Amino acid sequence: MAKYVFVTGGVVSGLGKGITAASLALLLKSRGYKVFMQKFDPYFNIDPGTMNPIQHGEVFVTYDGCETDLDLGHYERFIDEELNYTSNITSGKIYSSVIEKERHGDYLGATVQLVPHITNEIKNKVYEAGLTSHADIVITEIGGTVGDIESQAFIETLRQIQYEKGSKETAFVHTTLIPYVIGSNELKTKPTQNSVKDLQNMGIRPNFLVCRTPFATTEAIKEKLSLFCSIPKENIIDCVDAKNIYEVPLNIHAQKIDELILKQFELPTNKANLKYLENLIHTMETLDKEVEIALVGKYVELHDAYLSVAESLRHAGYKYHTKVNINWVDSERLEKDNINLKQIFKNSSGILVPGGFGNRGIEGKIKAIKYARENNIPFLGICLGMQLSVIEFARNVCNLEDANSTEFNTLCKNPIIDLMSDQKSVVNMGGTLRLGNYNCKIKKGTLASTAYKEDLIKERHRHRYEFNNKYKELLESYGMVFSGINEESNLVEIIELPKLKHFIACQFHPEFKSRPTRPHPLFDSFVKASIENK
Ligand code: GLN
Repeated sequence: MAKYVFVTGGVVSGLGKGITAASLALLLKSRGYKVFMQKFDPYFNIDPGTMNPIQHGEVFVTYDGCETDLDLGHYERFIDEELNYTSNITSGKIYSSVIEKERHGDYLGATVQLVPHITNEIKNKVYEAGLTSHADIVITEIGGTVGDIESQAFIETLRQIQYEKGSKETAFVHTTLIPYVIGSNELKTKPTQNSVKDLQNMGIRPNFLVCRTPFATTEAIKEKLSLFCSIPKENIIDCVDAKNIYEVPLNIHAQKIDELILKQFELPTNKANLKYLENLIHTMETLDKEVEIALVGKYVELHDAYLSVAESLRHAGYKYHTKVNINWVDSERLEKDNINLKQIFKNSSGILVPGGFGNRGIEGKIKAIKYARENNIPFLGICLGMQLSVIEFARNVCNLEDANSTEFNTLCKNPIIDLMSDQKSVVNMGGTLRLGNYNCKIKKGTLASTAYKEDLIKERHRHRYEFNNKYKELLESYGMVFSGINEESNLVEIIELPKLKHFIACQFHPEFKSRPTRPHPLFDSFVKASIENK
């Protein structure tokens, strides 16, 4: 049976609660336990799939096709475990499933209420994560800040779980802020005391405090917090602002939080193996080369909208001891007639066009792709980036002037990117998404095969439109190579232009599978080519 660690947040948002949760999971895993992670988001969207990336950052996709909050990306990168549909639960998901059960008559005439119906539904999601993952320990992060109206049903559920399971099966970690007040020149504990009181008023006694603070706290501060919050002094952990998020697990490990949790669970405290993390931090801090890569997108004002792509570029950089500097290029800006592309890309040794939805900025991205192709600059296209690479090639090399995607022009004469025939019945709703893992067969002797060193791979998807196979022979005759195919449905997954140094694009999202110590093969080969192109 799994044991459960719940991570709540107090005082203010943005304290790095997700990083604390992921750090705990990493530490417990490093002591030989099988861990699994889950995040509760209090908003009423069923999932973040329809949310604007400018407001909410990227949508992360799990292997089983769940569209999730970007925190799950942090989790996967930290703990190097694949998460799934049980990992991201929103209020929208909980309420819609309760209402569906009510309509189906499942509640046998009962009045459906927040307690117990909504709370039972949430509780089932917690236990389902434990059962289906076969983990020893599940770490669940509760989005938002304690005291928010939206998260009350989740907090109430945790109270019930704490009562049901007790402290040998559950541990509550509350992350708070200890601010430094200039003038009195002191670290202040009052906001933390108040936030713990809020939690206690809702019936929950936290077992641990993780205090975000600009400086290490003193024994006196810990004694005061211990007294006011009824938490043992050694369970009050400093989380001093770190310049590198990977230092957080090491910092809280030095204060024995992982050991104390295991002791509370009465589990053996095997030795933690954290050498690889120390090595990673050393690599990150001693990068001795630099390369600039242009990322051409329409949401560039919020870098979180491309979080996993940016992380993947950095991971590949670590392998070559190179710091990757991103040149954030707004694709809409490239659409202006008098734009000087040479000036914009003058220091960029590689160009990347990531995924996207809708037609804003697409002609700018096509210009960037043309520039990369004509100037033989290493290029990586992802999802929409692959679709636009094909459109650019069809228009400018194969002379199909009006080649387009039916996403942008339903009536175009050359729909080189189109919905699959069985998706057309739902075209009014925008088509259904191809989500999660699909197989991809790699053609021998191609750039893709050099990068992957495997013939059959699985990658995660999130898109509606596909390459239209009617145009395959024509494009091949002009030199495009279709180097990755999903054989089950005969869909194009990777294209490349072998005459160029490094021009490759894929229909899937490789950025979701890259890890800091294991860069994704396509990012690896792209960053390597960009470094060589400097
Ligand atoms: N908009 C394109 C599609 O739906 C590409 C999606 C993406 O880049 N994730 O097919």
